[in-house]
Amino acid sequence: MLQGHPWVFRGELQDVPDDLAPGEIVQVADARGRVVGSGYANPESSILVRILTRGEREPDAQWAKERLDAAVTRRRRDLPDVSDLRLVHAEADGLPGLVLEVMGGYAVVSPDTLGAQEVLLPWLLDEIRALGPEGVVLRAVSPSRQHEGLGLELRMLAGDPPKGPVEVHEEGIVYLVDLLGGQKTGHYFDQRQNRLRVGAWSAGRRILDAFAYTGGFALHAARGGASQVTAIDSSSEAIAALTRNAERNSVTIEAREENAFDALRALSQQRERFDLVVLDPPPFARGRSHLPAALRAYKEINLRAMRLLPPGGILCTASCSHAVSEDDFTGAVRAAAADAGFSGRVLGSYGADVDHPVRIEIPETDYLHCLVLVKE
Ligand code: SAH
Repeated sequence: MLQGHPWVFRGELQDVPDDLAPGEIVQVADARGRVVGSGYANPESSILVRILTRGEREPDAQWAKERLDAAVTRRRRDLPDVSDLRLVHAEADGLPGLVLEVMGGYAVVSPDTLGAQEVLLPWLLDEIRALGPEGVVLRAVSPSRQHEGLGLELRMLAGDPPKGPVEVHEEGIVYLVDLLGGQKTGHYFDQRQNRLRVGAWSAGRRILDAFAYTGGFALHAARGGASQVTAIDSSSEAIAALTRNAERNSVTIEAREENAFDALRALSQQRERFDLVVLDPPPFARGRSHLPAALRAYKEINLRAMRLLPPGGILCTASCSHAVSEDDFTGAVRAAAADAGFSGRVLGSYGADVDHPVRIEIPETDYLHCLVLVKE
C-alpha cells in the first residue's frame, strides 16, 4: 500500500477501531503516525480499506468527478471512434471497485464493492447522467460482491429501461445485449483487439471458438471469411444469444451447447482438425488458493486444443484469472505443448484493450493474457 497499491488488508493494520461503519471514509497512517491516504472502509471485507486519495486530500464528490473526467478524457483520446466501451476500470482508473461501461447508448454501472456502491456511485451519479446516456443501469451481478457482504442487483438507476436488447458495436460486428431482462447477457470489451486479430487470421480457415459466450471471437472469425466456424459454450443462454447474434450479423456459426473440456477431447478422438482454435475460458482461479487447480485446467484445455491443429494452425489462448500471472499462464501452455508434442512459434502475446488500463503498481490490473502460437 505504501508503494501505491490501493488495498489495505485488515491484517496489515495495527489499530483498527471496532466501530468502523460500512462505507465510512477513514484515514490510514503509517507506523510513525503520518497520514498515508484516505479511503472507504468495509468491516465485512478482508480488504478493510480501499485507498482513494494519497496524502492529506480528503476524497469527496469533487475528487470523484475529477477521476471520472480523467478516465473519460483518456478513452476519448485513445478510442476516439468507439462508442461502446469501458469508461471506468475500477482501481486502474483510481475509482476502486467501480466499473462504468457504455452499451448501446446506456451507461452501465457495476459496483463490485460496498464503497463503490454506497460512496462512489452517489458522488458520481449526476456526472454519469451528464454524459448523456439514454439511461443508467445498475448491473451489480459480479460473484465477487459476496466478499463484500453484498447481494446481486439489476435495475435502472435513471431513465426508462431499454425496450429490448441493445446493440453493442465492435469493429463492424453487432452484439445484442440484454441489459436487464431475457438472456441477461453482457459483453466483454477487453478482448476487442484480440478478436480483431482472430478476424484477420480467419480467411479461408476452419475455426473453433471454445468458451464462446455470445460469440465474441466466432462472429469476427465468420466476418473475416472463415470457411467454417464452430462455437462451443456450456451455457444455454450464451448459445441462444450467440445464435441471435449470428443472425443479426448475417453469418453462419455452428453453435454447440457442450462442456468444452469434453468437446475438445471428443473432437480430437474423431481426428477433427481446425486451422485456428480460440480458448477464452472464464477465470479458472478466483484467488491464489485456486492457482494449482487453475494451472492444471489451463494445461488440460490447451493440450486438447493443440491436438486439433494441423501444421500452420493457430492457437489463440487466453487467461483472465487475476491470480494467474503471465509467467504462470505461459508455463501452463508450455507444459501442454510438451505433453502434446507441439512445437511452434509465438506469434504474439497480448493483453486487454486500452479501455482496461494496466497500472504498474497494481499487478491485479494486468489480468488478461492472450498468447498466440503457430504450430510448426
Ligand atoms: N470468448 C467470449 C467470452 C468467454 S466468457 C467473448 O469473447 O465474449 C467464458 C464462457 O465460458 C462463458 O460463456 C461460460 O458459459 C463458458 N464456460 C464456462 N465453463 C465452460 C465449460 N466447461 N465448457 C464450455 N463453456 C464453458
